[in-house]
Amino acid sequence: MKKIALHWQILIALVLSVPLGLFFGADGIVDFTGVFNFMGSLFLNALKMIVVPLIISAIITGVSNIKSEKGFARMGGKTILYYLSTSFLAILTGLVLVNLFTPGIIDGVPAKDVLALAPLTADQLESISGKGTSEVYAIFLRMVPPNIFKAASEGQMLGLITFSLVFGFFIRKLNENYKTVQLNFWNGIYDVMLGITHLVMRIAPFGVLGLVALTVSETGFDSIMPLLKFALIVVVALLFHVFVSTSFILYSIGKVKPVVFLKIMSRALLTAFSTSSSSATLPETIEGVTRAGVPKKVSSFVLPLGATINMDGTALYECVAAMFIAQAYGLEISFGMQLVVVLVALLTSIGVAGVPSASLVAIVIILKAIGLPDTALGLILVVDRPLDMLRTAVNVWSDSCGAAVIAATESDS
Ligand code: ASP
Repeated sequence: MKKIALHWQILIALVLSVPLGLFFGADGIVDFTGVFNFMGSLFLNALKMIVVPLIISAIITGVSNIKSEKGFARMGGKTILYYLSTSFLAILTGLVLVNLFTPGIIDGVPAKDVLALAPLTADQLESISGKGTSEVYAIFLRMVPPNIFKAASEGQMLGLITFSLVFGFFIRKLNENYKTVQLNFWNGIYDVMLGITHLVMRIAPFGVLGLVALTVSETGFDSIMPLLKFALIVVVALLFHVFVSTSFILYSIGKVKPVVFLKIMSRALLTAFSTSSSSATLPETIEGVTRAGVPKKVSSFVLPLGATINMDGTALYECVAAMFIAQAYGLEISFGMQLVVVLVALLTSIGVAGVPSASLVAIVIILKAIGLPDTALGLILVVDRPLDMLRTAVNVWSDSCGAAVIAATESDS
């Protein structure tokens, strides 16, 4: 019998998970939520288990293999430029659509009452905070962790990235003896981690089934209806960013056909979709772009950084959500205020962690910046999860395109 390709298996699991979640949730015919939870958690645990050693070994081997210091600075510059400009493009797309279609205004009146604004409880607020600080100076502080083991155990990626970059950089300065030992050691670890990644991916269909069925059983569809216009605008803006903006960049600079690339990256994108975590998806993102032909020295530098600081989908969502809430409250939104929203969305998208619902904390910061009460966040909580799945896939897509684009411009060096 012909084996079904893994991305199809994941897609089938995704489709099956919807009826399963609806019929076998807590209020369903039989309650299977415990089983869904087990399947999903096992998969997530396995992914998270790989992330720390994979990131460290990927960056160290990547950086230590870069030939010259000039090459290092050049690639870093290009990466940051790509990340900032695509995030900015994403925010602009969201901003234009949310201004055009004003989802927060229903029949000419601010939607606050129609949507029966659900205030947040203190518990909810507390669970949202702590998903990542986004004040600018805090980002810099996290880049230099006082204890790398603590950073690793807490999944504090930015600190690990800095340490690994510096570590890799100084391996290049060792004498030949030491250097060979170090390079062999880290290259070996990196290969082992890729091997484990392949193994974990084999259980991806089960994990996806569990994660999505659980989400469907918890969220259902009814509660989503009143927020449909907002959700639709987010979806359209995200799709525009994927199929127009980033695809154009990928095709024109990266010389890669977007459809072909999409197919290669489908596993990683489906995993991002079902885990809602770009950090947990990182192993598959690396594996995907490697299959697409991106050399290790590029992918191991661009992707771990991207999974942490480049979040186009998140930036776009933050902007649309904040504008939507402001509209729903009937706030007069001046140009200056929109500028604040854009800037804070850009900065916070860099600061938030690649974990589920991390955007929520950033939206609180934006709401505060434009003077709205953060309890307004309650408005969008209902649709947050499905939109989180989609924006995480967009985050991973943009990181992957970045790797392909930078690889194309680095091929001559
Ligand atoms: N879940 C997103 C990610 O991991 C972050 C967010 O937008 O909440 O990329």
